[in-house]
Amino acid sequence: MYAGRFAPSPTGPLHFGSLVTALASFLRARQQSGRWLVRIEDIDPPRQPGDAIERIVGSLIAHGLDWDGELTFQSKRSSHYDQAIEQLRQSGLIYPCDCSRRQIKDAGAKIGDAGLGLIYPGTCRHSPPLHGDSLALRIRVNDEVIRFDDLLQGPQEQNLSKASGDFLLRRRDGLYSYALAGTVDDILQGITEIIRGADLLSETPRHIYLTRKLGVEVPKYGHVAVALNPAGQKLSKQNYARALDDNQAGENLVAALRFLRLPVQNDMPQLPISEIIDWAISNFSLDTMKGVESQRVNF
Ligand code: GLU
Repeated sequence: MYAGRFAPSPTGPLHFGSLVTALASFLRARQQSGRWLVRIEDIDPPRQPGDAIERIVGSLIAHGLDWDGELTFQSKRSSHYDQAIEQLRQSGLIYPCDCSRRQIKDAGAKIGDAGLGLIYPGTCRHSPPLHGDSLALRIRVNDEVIRFDDLLQGPQEQNLSKASGDFLLRRRDGLYSYALAGTVDDILQGITEIIRGADLLSETPRHIYLTRKLGVEVPKYGHVAVALNPAGQKLSKQNYARALDDNQAGENLVAALRFLRLPVQNDMPQLPISEIIDWAISNFSLDTMKGVESQRVNF
């Protein structure tokens, strides 16, 4: 059965850009008569303001995005991440690492070709630290090209050894990486298709690699064009994107549907939220967003 999800990091309240991705994944799941789950990716406590989770949940409800089952919280799922690490360790793919960012730079690391930052030069792969209190864990990658056909952005490929090198599963401060936690949850929650923002496109090959190494079938992916502010930056908390006003849910939904290129009518914002959502489920199609590039919005 189809299962999709929305997986916000609670670094702040939802903004227009996150509404677009939430809505696209919701509409796709509902149209496929599938399940739609909401998972709060609260694995980075220092970056999470105290009321962000409540505000996100409040906004989803106000905008008529009803999820199935219980909300899940990554902060409560460490045992699953540890089990996955153990499985990968038994496959001989993991090694400890005590390199600081500075040491990685000093080792002459090159910048990867996928916008993911420095390529880990493999220092600890060749001579792993024997002991230490704060060791990170990395997974070995190889010189293979990972390919996938994105439902919205078309064929993609990335060679992990040229994009990031051996990447982190757990950081030196003990926090799990987004790649590990997200991938493990998508597997355990039985997610069959992942609709999310195109800003995550270059992260996806690492998720595919991990999924394969954990011996599981890879889900389908569709990366939706992201909303940009008038200066051309992705809407995000860092760029001071405005929080969604839940009292304007009709207007917000209609603007998000317009962004998704649905043929909305001018009088739609006045309709009850449930009617806007029903109309959107009947009219949604992934096709309208195929190949669409990031778009500027006045939000
Ligand atoms: N938590 C990630 C974010 O808010 C999204 C993860 C995902 O959809 O895979 O950017």
